[in-house]
Amino acid sequence: MVSKKKCKKTPSLDASRKATKSDEISIDDGISGVKGGLEGISLSSSETGSNDVSSFLFHSKSTKPSFRLPFLGPISLSERGSIGAKISHGRGLITTRDVSSGECLFVIPSMFSADAVEVRTRYLQEKINGGDQAKVVERLAEDHIVQKVQAACDLLSDEEIQPSAAGRARIQLNAFILQMNSERVLTIENPAALMGNLVANESSTIPPKDTVNLDKGTILGIIRRNGFGPDFHNYNKIATCWTERANSEHCYNRVLGIYPLAAMINHSCCPNAVRVFGSIPTQNGIKSKKEVMIAHANANIPNGTEITWSYISPATPFAVRREMLLSKYGFTCHCPRCAMEDEAISKAEFQGLFALADRRWSTRDSNLCDQRETAISLVSSIERIFSTNQIPIESQRYLRVSYGLLYIDSFNAMHSLNNEECLKHNIQLATQLHFSFVSCNNASTEHLSILHLCYDLSSYLRTIAMKGSDPNTIRWATSQVRFWTDQLKIAHMIRYGELGEDLEKVRDAMKHSKMVVRNQDGWYLAKDCFI
Ligand SMILES: [Zn+2]
Repeated sequence: MVSKKKCKKTPSLDASRKATKSDEISIDDGISGVKGGLEGISLSSSETGSNDVSSFLFHSKSTKPSFRLPFLGPISLSERGSIGAKISHGRGLITTRDVSSGECLFVIPSMFSADAVEVRTRYLQEKINGGDQAKVVERLAEDHIVQKVQAACDLLSDEEIQPSAAGRARIQLNAFILQMNSERVLTIENPAALMGNLVANESSTIPPKDTVNLDKGTILGIIRRNGFGPDFHNYNKIATCWTERANSEHCYNRVLGIYPLAAMINHSCCPNAVRVFGSIPTQNGIKSKKEVMIAHANANIPNGTEITWSYISPATPFAVRREMLLSKYGFTCHCPRCAMEDEAISKAEFQGLFALADRRWSTRDSNLCDQRETAISLVSSIERIFSTNQIPIESQRYLRVSYGLLYIDSFNAMHSLNNEECLKHNIQLATQLHFSFVSCNNASTEHLSILHLCYDLSSYLRTIAMKGSDPNTIRWATSQVRFWTDQLKIAHMIRYGELGEDLEKVRDAMKHSKMVVRNQDGWYLAKDCFI
């Protein structure tokens, strides 16, 4: 039963209210090379969730997590799940109360995960043999998990083993096997106990078996159906990064993990929840880390609503998305976004435009849009059709996300034109793009990067305006800078949890998110962004 009660709105954060003495953060504005300040920013308080997840993401080397794991928020298992928005017999997760956008839904450790450092070492040893590098990474990651699952099976049959270690192996294997047989999940007599089993916490009911035997084929089957791989990235990107930057430590630190509870969540291209990954140290020492998944609400979710998220990057265009979901997951998506985009792009005016845009996305061939006129005119044609055909705002937003790559091409091209009018136009477009990303994934680094883009364009406009004498432009640009400062702050808190007053943490977060849609030279690199 879906409650009609409205959710609380996400609290807006007053930038000045919690400002502290040290919160002026200097960031390179990325366009002019002039150092700009994020006025009044304070990331000292999270009103978007009670879990401080930032220590996972940036300072996990020595810190112990400050909350219990697993953390299970206002969620429960339901027998009535959906697949691609069609109600099916499958299972799903639902909310147990009204949830506000940004609120933490759960933080769970991986049941089994491939150690990225080890997989990378083995990959660098093997890659000299040539062949499909992405496949090599995928196979090594899968093999690593297979070995861990088999080691857990072996533990159970070892009579010398400590009872506590055997018990742990048993409940981990139980959680792993639960994914194999959906009929067991179909009859959810006790959702809380089943959730306990799926995250292997203390309340897990240990199956009576003393031994478990799983052959490699069975284990691989479970991994391929339910594992969380490079997520919105892919093995190809990982292989390239590991090959080209063999000495860089900060180059894909996760590859594949098993999260039985998270595997219960169904897909939607306009999801109400999103996930990010982090890691925590294990008891074996700081070098050994355990992977965790953090999920939070992407929108206000009424009590009793099914939680959904996107299996593939929300920045994927409609036609490509449809094909990917069918070939990889075996279903055709009928979510509201798919319906809206399908209807919008069927308009005759859009036909040629989106064919080119799809090709741009699929081939990642930036040459298609390197001609300034191509990128700019494509985007302005799309925008013109939006307004002349009265395409609903929601459809417009989804389409802009789908063709975000094209918009970045256009920003690149317009940047070189370098005048106030152009900048104002770009700020308006970037703002639209921001709203579009927020509706699909408020935790994506692309979204954060677009916020930086909005901030940088405004800041640059203010710099230019200061040289002139138009007070209106100066005022407008200054208000824009303030607005985007605030948005940056809120979005980073949602993405990383409470960042606190540790400026190092804040800088790490800012640096990371800023670079997603730009290159080392400071401007936006469409070729490699947008997974
Ligand atoms: Zn869809």
